[in-house]
Amino acid sequence: MDFSQLNVNALMEITQRPDLAFVRGRGSWLEDHAGKRYLDFVQGWAVNCLGHCPEPVSRALAEQSELLVNPSPAFYNLPSIALAERLVGASCFDRVFFANSGAEANEGAIKLARKYGRVHLGGAYKIITFEHAFHGRTLATMSASGKPGWDTLFAPQVDGFPKARLNDLESVRALIDDQTVAVMLEPVQGEAGVVPAEEDFLRALRALTHERGLLLIVDEVQTGMGRTGALFGYQLSGIEPDIMTLGKGIGAGVPLAALLAREAACCFSHGDQGGTYNGNPLMTAVGVAVFDALTGPGFMDAVLARGGQLSEGLLSLAAKWGMPGERGRGLLRALILDRDDAPAIVERARAMAPEGLLLNAPRPNLLRFMPSLNVTEQEVARMLEMLDEAVAEQRR
Ligand code: PMP
Repeated sequence: MDFSQLNVNALMEITQRPDLAFVRGRGSWLEDHAGKRYLDFVQGWAVNCLGHCPEPVSRALAEQSELLVNPSPAFYNLPSIALAERLVGASCFDRVFFANSGAEANEGAIKLARKYGRVHLGGAYKIITFEHAFHGRTLATMSASGKPGWDTLFAPQVDGFPKARLNDLESVRALIDDQTVAVMLEPVQGEAGVVPAEEDFLRALRALTHERGLLLIVDEVQTGMGRTGALFGYQLSGIEPDIMTLGKGIGAGVPLAALLAREAACCFSHGDQGGTYNGNPLMTAVGVAVFDALTGPGFMDAVLARGGQLSEGLLSLAAKWGMPGERGRGLLRALILDRDDAPAIVERARAMAPEGLLLNAPRPNLLRFMPSLNVTEQEVARMLEMLDEAVAEQRR
C-alpha cells in the first residue's frame, strides 16, 4: 500500500506523526503499510507488557466477547470480581474501582482523596504533587501534573495541586497546611525522563504523611504491573501507600485501568463515582489473563534479567560514545546523552533499513526504553546493535 492513498486529514491533528501506518504486530515486532518491520521498544508507551497481540489477550477477548460484553456497571460481573480479588491479594489495598485510562483512574484517586478530606479532615482538599510529574490529560490530572507550560495551557487550572520537588522531603513539608489531604507521586517519573523517587525519600514521605494524617497516593500507571521488576513499584521501597492507580500494562494494550485503596480510604458514597464502561467484563477478562501471565512462575525473574542486560548494554554504549550513563528500574530505562540529539536518533533508528527500531525521546538529551516485559535476550541484544548503528549514523 502507498502511504499517499491514506487520507490522514480526516483525523484531528494532535501530534506530529511519521508517514507510516502500522497494520500488524507480533511480540516485539511491528509491520507497517509497506511491509517494513520494526523492533518495538516503545510498545504503545509501556502498555503492551506481553508484546503485540499476545495469545492470552486474544483468547480472553475472543472468549469473553462471545459470553458477555457489558451488562452495565449497575450489576456485578464475574471477570471484574476475579480481577479485583487478584489485585487486592497481591497488594496492600483492599478494594478496586476499574477505569478506562490512567488519567481517569487518577481523576478517581483525586476525587477519593477530596472526599476523604471532606469526611475526615474538615474539608481539606489540597493534594501535593511534584514538579515534572505526569498524571494525565484531563483538566484535573493536567493540573496535578508538573509539566512546564501546563499551568497556563487551558487555564484556569483545577485548584489545589501545590508542587514539591522530587526527592526533597523539606519541599513537601513546607507545602503542608490545614487544607492538605494527600501527597501524590509516581515511584519513577516516566514522562519526566525516567527519574526514580529514591527509596529513602519514599520511606521518609510515608513516615511524614502518616505523622500528619495525610493520604499517600502512588500513580503506578507506568510503573505498575511488573514494569520495574516488582509487581508494583512501591514494593521496591517497602512502603504501603493508601491509594494506587494502575493503567497501561494492566490491560496489555486494551483500555483498562484501576484505582485501588485501603479500606480506611474507601469513602465514596453511592453516586460519587461510576461510568458506562467501568469494570466491563470484556476488558477485565483481559486483565485477568494478563495478571495471570505476569504472576506466572519465573516471569518477574526474567524481567529483572532483561532489565540487567539492558542496563549493562546501555552503559557500554554510554562509555563508547562518551555519554553520561543510564538509569531506571527493571524494564523502564533511559540512556542519558551528552547532547540534545535524542529526537534525531529516534528518527534515524526508525528510518533504518531493512528493519527499523522504535524508540522514544521524552527529553532532547534522553532516550527511553519500555519494551514488552517478555522481550527476549536476543531482542535486547539486537536493539543495542541497532541503537549503536543509529548513533553512529547520527554522529558520523
Ligand atoms: N500517569 C502516568 C504516570 C503516566 O505515565 C500516564 C501516561 N503516560 C498517565 C498517568 C495517563 O495515562 P492515560 O494516557 O492512560 O490516560
